[in-house]
Amino acid sequence: MIVCKFGGTSMATAESITKVKNIIQSNPDRKIIVVSAPGKRFKSDSKITDLLYSAYNESLKSDVGANSLSEVKERFESLAKELSLNIDINKYIDEIKTGLLNASTADYAASRGEYLSARIMAAVLGFKFIDAGDIIKFRYDGSYDADTTKDLVSKLKNSKTGIVIPGFYGRMPDKSIKTFTRGGSDVTGAIIAGGVSAELYENWTDVSGFMAADPTIVENPKWIDSLSYAELRELSYMGANVLHPDSIFPLREIGVPINIKNTFAPEVRGTMILKSVANDQRPIITGIAGKKGNTIIALSKSMMNSELGFGRKVLSVLERNGVSFEHIPTGIDTMSIIVSGKLPDNTRDKLVDDIKGNVNPDTIEITDSISLIAIVGHGMANRKGTAAKICTALYSADINIRMIDQGSSEMNVIVGVEDADYTNAIRALYKAFFN
Ligand code: ASP
Repeated sequence: MIVCKFGGTSMATAESITKVKNIIQSNPDRKIIVVSAPGKRFKSDSKITDLLYSAYNESLKSDVGANSLSEVKERFESLAKELSLNIDINKYIDEIKTGLLNASTADYAASRGEYLSARIMAAVLGFKFIDAGDIIKFRYDGSYDADTTKDLVSKLKNSKTGIVIPGFYGRMPDKSIKTFTRGGSDVTGAIIAGGVSAELYENWTDVSGFMAADPTIVENPKWIDSLSYAELRELSYMGANVLHPDSIFPLREIGVPINIKNTFAPEVRGTMILKSVANDQRPIITGIAGKKGNTIIALSKSMMNSELGFGRKVLSVLERNGVSFEHIPTGIDTMSIIVSGKLPDNTRDKLVDDIKGNVNPDTIEITDSISLIAIVGHGMANRKGTAAKICTALYSADINIRMIDQGSSEMNVIVGVEDADYTNAIRALYKAFFN
């Protein structure tokens, strides 16, 4: 059995939905379909999910659904009409209005895009609609309940008919709706694929897989033929925006392969993501990804290395202030804490005071506008010269490395550079490893 997930662009227009239908009907193994909410039809268009978040915000202030919800209604009505479906969209919109009025949440509102999208797809295919809320479960504290979900999902294995399930959300024990983080339909697809022990999880999107670098920065980067789960996580977490980084967790245990496919070019093989990829024929580096706008908190203190508990105290301060860190490269008397994104001003001031009060550093300096770039690939393990190549490439491009960190797994080197150097750094690294 193949579990397929179709993303927002695939669900955006009647034309793309017809392509989705043809893809599904071309292989009878494609029996369980997970869908996103319709995405943008053109560059300046709105995603249905964003309209629904706006509808929720509007509902807090004024009349429910005056603006955004009516746009959602129009979008689904025209899909139903163009696809000649006999679906009463108005009835569903009324339900959402009532939901929004009855102490609803932003998660509830956002989830309705996937809900309606799955209703449409089930009608197009003549498949059974199963509500994600009935099979994807969260605990009271909002954490994902893998055990209960697994039991419920495994029952889908025996289904005689095709099934369509909305992505992105599930339900809490009190029946309220809870969503995953943005892009979470990928995770739903993975949960279903893992739960039914699918032979393959096909993730259909609008690109033909992963590229070795961001194509908006590097001209015509290489396509990645295959990736390991671990490489995928590193690249997606660092900004390679093709698949949600949490998608591998439900699949890891049984090793269900993921195939990234393009709805608009279904004949292309796409990228395969596997539990492990044989090392011998691999390039040193599989891909490069990065994100701008991170923060370095740099501390120095003489004899820091011999001060017992210094690190623990600093980390406790971060924890108390709700700041999570990405990397902590250290020297004998220095410690750099890399934090994702920019710290809000009040957190920043409080953090500085708190660190001063707890560990009394000689200096503390906070710099934002730092780009983190991950150079990822199992091929670098046990091969000499990767770090040298990285440093040489950046030096030759006249780029200052603000920090460098290599994990002991030897599949990932992270460098920090100024945001202003980001684009050139990605180009220089790509050239060094791929040209
Ligand atoms: N519709 C949701 C979003 O825009 C979830 C998804 O598409 O995966 O984030």
